[in-house]
Amino acid sequence: MTIEVGILGATGMVGQQFIALLAKHPWFKVTWLGASERSAGKAFRDAAAWRLPTPLPDEIAALTVEQASEAAGTAPKLVFSGLDSSVAGEIEGAFAKAGHIIVSNSRNYRMDADVPLLIPEVNADHLALLKAQEARGWKGRIITNPNCVVVVYAMALAPLRQFGLKTSIITTLQAISGAGYPGVPSWDILANVIPFIGGGEEEKIETETNKILGALKNGAVENHPLTVSAAVTRVPVHNGHTGSIAVSLEQRPDAAAIIAAWNGFRGKPQALDLPSAPKQPIVYLTEPNRPQPALDANRDGGMTVTVGRLRRCPVLDYKFVALGHNTIRGAAGAAILNAELMHREGLL
Ligand code: NAP
Repeated sequence: MTIEVGILGATGMVGQQFIALLAKHPWFKVTWLGASERSAGKAFRDAAAWRLPTPLPDEIAALTVEQASEAAGTAPKLVFSGLDSSVAGEIEGAFAKAGHIIVSNSRNYRMDADVPLLIPEVNADHLALLKAQEARGWKGRIITNPNCVVVVYAMALAPLRQFGLKTSIITTLQAISGAGYPGVPSWDILANVIPFIGGGEEEKIETETNKILGALKNGAVENHPLTVSAAVTRVPVHNGHTGSIAVSLEQRPDAAAIIAAWNGFRGKPQALDLPSAPKQPIVYLTEPNRPQPALDANRDGGMTVTVGRLRRCPVLDYKFVALGHNTIRGAAGAAILNAELMHREGLL
């Protein structure tokens, strides 16, 4: 069985990662590509600057890119989106209205009450929100994955919910691929750290996390009461967002109990053995100088979150480091896992 899929924003950093990850996918086959009017009408190889170390598949290289804003209704039913957020709201909405299932990376719909903000290991039950989208009069649906830091952060926090998560502080060290292509000018980022990321990055971390960790009650998400304070930085790393995290907990688990909670954490993707599911979604590294983006971001195809350096915090209770691949676990891989879950749940 093959399910044809389209990619909105196919020429971008996330769009390219979709193409690479779907090249050998057992269920999904890319047959349609959409981007801006700058790319429309061109073969993909002429429209995009391929930036990944894996080769661009020949059949994708030859596909003609469509103009996304005029293409609602012409693409396959299932469409992944890596559109720039300045246009994602309007275009994804038009596609959903026309009957497409949009599995999106963009921020535009994430916090809407009727839109699942999904990490399948953490809140697969939030897919039930899709039913409420009937009220919009759409023939299709929109589901979203979180901001690329939030995926890493919420996954690292999810196994700690059992200990009573109260407050958390995160300082991020985010890769340049998180800014898309061409992204941050080399003059600004080489040998430097930039203590600001536009697009409301800190606010996204402080709100999306609570929705994801929240509980589904009477068909709506009740946000988790955790209080989050986020500070973000861009660092000269290719791929992999790192978070230096502190947490306070209601209970007093010892470090061994926290590490066991991370290493033993499994979710629906593992139970269903979904094609993109990492066998162990969170791995605790015992070496004192890990995780590191250059060594650990690609673990298990870039779908595993690695944590390390768990130690007592003199201000909150514990502190640790978490890392994930921003364009795979934090973007394209996350969206593909969402679609795999939807397929197995009969929602495509
Ligand atoms: P990017 O490299 O700048 O790519 C943006 C894409 O949007 C390109 O395909 C571009 O097409 C298309 N686009 C821009 N303006 C358009 C328009 N007017 N009409 C139609 N298409 C248009 O950005 P990115 O890093 O891939 O990010 C894409 C989305 O995913 C963003 O919303 C971002 O916030 C989110 N995201 C990114 C990451 C990450 O790590 N990079 C992680 C999670 C989420 P053209 O080439 O034709 O201009």
